[in-house]
Amino acid sequence: MESNKRKCGFVDCNNLIEKKEGYAWPVACENCLYSKKATRCDACFKKEDSRFHTIWEFSDEVTGENKVEFFVEATNFDYAKEVIQKFLAHNISTELRQELNSLYQKCLDLEKDISEFKELAREKATKEQGIRKEFIQEKGGSQFNIYEYFLCASCSKELNERERKLREDYDTKLSKFTVFDDEELFDRVATEIGHKAVDKITWTTGTKYTEEEFEENHKKNKESLERILKEAETNNSGNLNLSQLEELRKRVEFYNNWDKPSKVSQEIKENSFQKGQRSENNSSVLPWILGIGGIIILLGTIIYFVYRNKKKLI
Ligand SMILES: [Zn+2]
Ligand SMILES: [Zn+2]
Repeated sequence: MESNKRKCGFVDCNNLIEKKEGYAWPVACENCLYSKKATRCDACFKKEDSRFHTIWEFSDEVTGENKVEFFVEATNFDYAKEVIQKFLAHNISTELRQELNSLYQKCLDLEKDISEFKELAREKATKEQGIRKEFIQEKGGSQFNIYEYFLCASCSKELNERERKLREDYDTKLSKFTVFDDEELFDRVATEIGHKAVDKITWTTGTKYTEEEFEENHKKNKESLERILKEAETNNSGNLNLSQLEELRKRVEFYNNWDKPSKVSQEIKENSFQKGQRSENNSSVLPWILGIGGIIILLGTIIYFVYRNKKKLI
């Protein structure tokens, strides 16, 4: 039961606040939002001159909005199964095929224990949400706004530590349900079918991205890099020193080899990314490098988050 109205976050105010389409919930009515400012830590009541660490409460008993069930529903092995099937559809070595087949079998076995898995996931999400309220109660404090937590630096540090510990405990319990241990498998598949094919599969499986969007993105990134390299080699070569020009060439080479099933593209990727990090301090070519780095980082970040989000769920 979700509603788009809820009470203002301040206990002494009964005004209703409304959630606008596409926006997060406001934490207070407009009157309170600008007139009421936290002046003490919710947990220890200590006053601080610097700003408080603010944590937004994402569950809401009033409106029935609860991310716990959303999280639990999202946890399934469909993503892993689909990715494995798509890998298997490629022309790959017998050895890799056997490994992927046994991983697929592992998914089927894990599905038999799905209720245990969901129970753990539910428990983890519920505890993650409850830990802040518990912390404040334990310290004898109270929330200034029911939808937010204002914590001083030391309380925030203590809470962070508890949250880290909780996540660690559950990650250990949930680890037997992990299908893809790390990116090593993805890299091995890439040596046989190419990084582009792997990235395309992980990008588009279980997401709103289509293969066309993936291709379009890839094409744009490649063209930008080639254009930057061409300009650097002709008009602006004075702005880049030799090693930076070399780095740029390697990045273009990586993009050109991205779809090739060989170890070469992996090596180029690693060398090029390591070099890129070191050269970003050179201020005279900073705009150049930021431009190139931006594209790579943007693409890398998207791929990374798709990987991470998916892997967290499995
Ligand atoms: Zn209010
Ligand atoms: Zn405090």
